[in-house]
Amino acid sequence: MRLFYSALFLLAPLISHLKAAEPADWIIRAKYVITMDPHHRVIDHGAVAIRGMRIAGVGTQSEIAQRFQARQILDKSDAVLLPGFIDTHTHAPMSLFRAIADDMRLEDWLKNFIFPAESKNVSPEFVRWGTRLACLEMVLAGITTYTDMYYFEDVEAETAKEAGLRGVLGQTIIGFPAPDYKNWRETLAATERFIERFRADDLIVPAVAPHSIYTTPDQALVTSHDLARKYNTPLLIHLAETKVERDDALAQREMTPVQTVEKLGLLEGRVVAAHSIWVDHSDIEILKRHGTGVAHCPSSNTKMAAGIAPVAEMLKAGVKVGLGTDGFAGSNDSADLMLEMNLAAKLQKVNAGDPRVLPAEQALEMATLGGARVVGLEKEIGSLEEGKCADVIAISLARPNDVPLYNLYSQIVYASKAPDVEDVFINGRQIVSERHVLTLNQDEIYRKAEEYKQRIQTTLVH
Ligand SMILES: [Zn+2]
Repeated sequence: MRLFYSALFLLAPLISHLKAAEPADWIIRAKYVITMDPHHRVIDHGAVAIRGMRIAGVGTQSEIAQRFQARQILDKSDAVLLPGFIDTHTHAPMSLFRAIADDMRLEDWLKNFIFPAESKNVSPEFVRWGTRLACLEMVLAGITTYTDMYYFEDVEAETAKEAGLRGVLGQTIIGFPAPDYKNWRETLAATERFIERFRADDLIVPAVAPHSIYTTPDQALVTSHDLARKYNTPLLIHLAETKVERDDALAQREMTPVQTVEKLGLLEGRVVAAHSIWVDHSDIEILKRHGTGVAHCPSSNTKMAAGIAPVAEMLKAGVKVGLGTDGFAGSNDSADLMLEMNLAAKLQKVNAGDPRVLPAEQALEMATLGGARVVGLEKEIGSLEEGKCADVIAISLARPNDVPLYNLYSQIVYASKAPDVEDVFINGRQIVSERHVLTLNQDEIYRKAEEYKQRIQTTLVH
């Protein structure tokens, strides 16, 4: 008997240790963890524990091993873990029009290519396959949340969910007949049904998406805003993208585009303004005052020669700025937020004539927590912190462009590339394993994309 008690005594610390261990579904271990938390903590030999859809713990590998007992362990000893990238502006199903026509003026591109191609081809099935292709590309580039405005958005939401991506999605509300609805009133009614259907969803954040002040009538803009306020959803809009938009607003309304949306009352609530290139100091003050988020899209802005958004000035003034890829056709043609980070930093430097402007750490923040703030989800996503949604990516540090390693932020922004993304988790679910997408059938998507290309080519004017 005495022997039994002494054995128990010896085992006691082990038993209490086992009892204390919290359950976890995953522990992901890596060489480094970039948290983007309020202290911008970078952890050597770090780990992230996931339980269900949430992050259960972030710390050193030994801290996490002591605290958690995981069902599965993923070892990424040659990688860095980061929060997933957040794309604050795109039009995903346009992937099926990728590189269809480029290097021409916007009017030529719209009139001769995209309008005829869209009116003859965009259908629910087109949106389904275009979204699948886009999700495949986005998730392989480490994009875990994307913000979108297009048509048949309910089909897009179903498809994004099936792929496992998080989407802030809004049906485009525009002042002329669209592929899905005849007029903006019908679109708004459909938007309300869309919001009702997805408002409690784990992955989809429904939004209201009037296209712009020059394509959407004022009455439709105001009614859109009323709907967004009724459900407290984000309102997505293109704003101050081109010089023509600004000049026309000044000529017709004697106001800048930003003053116009403020006057219409649109800036109350959660607003994501895409581009905001042609803004002056007082416009920036207005954006700051209303807490408006700006989706900066450097690839699109350079490719379309739209101009350089005063991002450094906006950030300095306290405006929320994230990064967007913009259209999968015409304005960008790819979805690579690592490229956008890189270009955003360089564009601000050349604009200011000062390489100290928009340093790497700030550019990475725009692609993560900054993007979360823009879409109003900073309490849920954007950093690796206990309690937040488990949107985690692993980027390899073992490729030629990744060695040697001096500064992690510089490495990620200036040297790493989208194909270095190896593993992706969204809402605690593994979506990408060693660059293999687990939720989508790549071969089938490629085959369908080719079929659509053959069909679309016959519908072009040329
Ligand atoms: Zn756009």
